[in-house]
Amino acid sequence: MALPAGGVHPRPPRGEPVIKVLVSAALCQGHTLCHLQDPDLFTLDDNGYSDVGVRQVPPGSEHRARRGADVCPERAVTLDENDEGNPW
Ligand code: SF4
Repeated sequence: MALPAGGVHPRPPRGEPVIKVLVSAALCQGHTLCHLQDPDLFTLDDNGYSDVGVRQVPPGSEHRARRGADVCPERAVTLDENDEGNPW
């Protein structure tokens, strides 16, 4: 699914599970491999390190989020798939 211009990510439909991606700044070594999986989700700072922190995964990007976690050699990327669901 293509993301809308301007980096605004759509919310999942009401009641749908919410997946969050978490990137540890302490572990990130700037390999940029996560960014190659989804540049809109795994953004980088000017030095090539992840600036994600904690971010909601937009609907349709779940598989790219999982690939980003899988390819990180530092295991800096984790997914929180236990959210109760979109309350909005
Ligand atoms: S792949 Fe891992 S180490 Fe590389 S930029 Fe992404 S989070 Fe950082």
